[in-house]
Amino acid sequence: MKSLKNQTKTIDELENGILAGNRVVLAQAITLIESHLTSDKQVAEVLIQRILPKTGKATRIGITGAPGVGKSTFIEVLGKYLTSIHKKIAVLAIDPSSKKTKGSILGDKTRMDELSKDPLAFIRPSASSGSLGGVTNSTQETILLCEAAGFDVIIIETVGVGQSETTVREMTDFFLLLMLAGAGDELQGIKKGIIEMADAMVITKADGENVKYARQAQVEFEHAMHLSSATDSKWVQRVLISSALTNMGIDDVWNTIEQYIILTKGNGFFNQQRNKQEILSFHRNIDEIIKQSIADKSKTFLTDLENKIKAKQLSPRQAARLVLDKTLS
Ligand code: GDP
Repeated sequence: MKSLKNQTKTIDELENGILAGNRVVLAQAITLIESHLTSDKQVAEVLIQRILPKTGKATRIGITGAPGVGKSTFIEVLGKYLTSIHKKIAVLAIDPSSKKTKGSILGDKTRMDELSKDPLAFIRPSASSGSLGGVTNSTQETILLCEAAGFDVIIIETVGVGQSETTVREMTDFFLLLMLAGAGDELQGIKKGIIEMADAMVITKADGENVKYARQAQVEFEHAMHLSSATDSKWVQRVLISSALTNMGIDDVWNTIEQYIILTKGNGFFNQQRNKQEILSFHRNIDEIIKQSIADKSKTFLTDLENKIKAKQLSPRQAARLVLDKTLS
């Protein structure tokens, strides 16, 4: 058997494999994108450039919520629903805190067990190493690869307690917040800003005894959300309830997303938001490339400047300027 190592594949092979929807090749290309090696990054850049004309067609959905709210179970059931209507779905998970959090996305291999066996689905955790900016930029490019590989729906999952939600919001068309009934948003570690960012909220685990609490929570959140509504998209935030156990409300969630896409494509917001996101990504990449180039510079040069700052021989700004001059020269 041919080695599966990336290095053995030419850019042509990678490109053709991705365009043919080959998941093994797709996974290899994602590994290249996540690599810290300069040689891998160069190949990845060319690859992205080549597949760019084939990207942009998928519906990009961000899903967040506190650990334990039921994200992976929900995504599995939503994913199975989507594949049952013949949609190809990719799930990308960002979990910068995976090593510490109990509700880790990456740690538990049994998550989304059913969906991972589905021939129309592709599940991929993001690299947990490096800065959030690095993870975000590689996730952004992973979205493009999945689109070129023909996926119709791309779900980006993130734990709703950190900084990652804002960046996931910045690379998705529709942002979904999962919440539990009967626990306040502060209790669930969800910041107010995240509720405002959401296009819809889903109260999870609406089954058995919990149905009535879910309905109460729905009314309460609807009230709270509508107070902060009326955005450029003309979309009014929705609050839905669902159960991954009984499948209740799962089709409603998808119908809501479809309605949002129809509305925002019709009024131009969809493209405006995508364009804005491209520009944000451009600037995030500038930051990352500059930071990386600086990190690649000699360590002794940086240590020397740090010492001069401590000795008050240089201001932090002057020192930063010297680094930039050296990096750009
Ligand atoms: P995550 O940490 O947000 O990804 O949450 P999980 O999907 O791992 O779910 C956490 C727990 O809630 C698990 O024990 C699930 O079995 C349970 N759970 C998830 N969805 C439902 C649901 O719709 N109904 C009920 N009753 N339990 C659920």
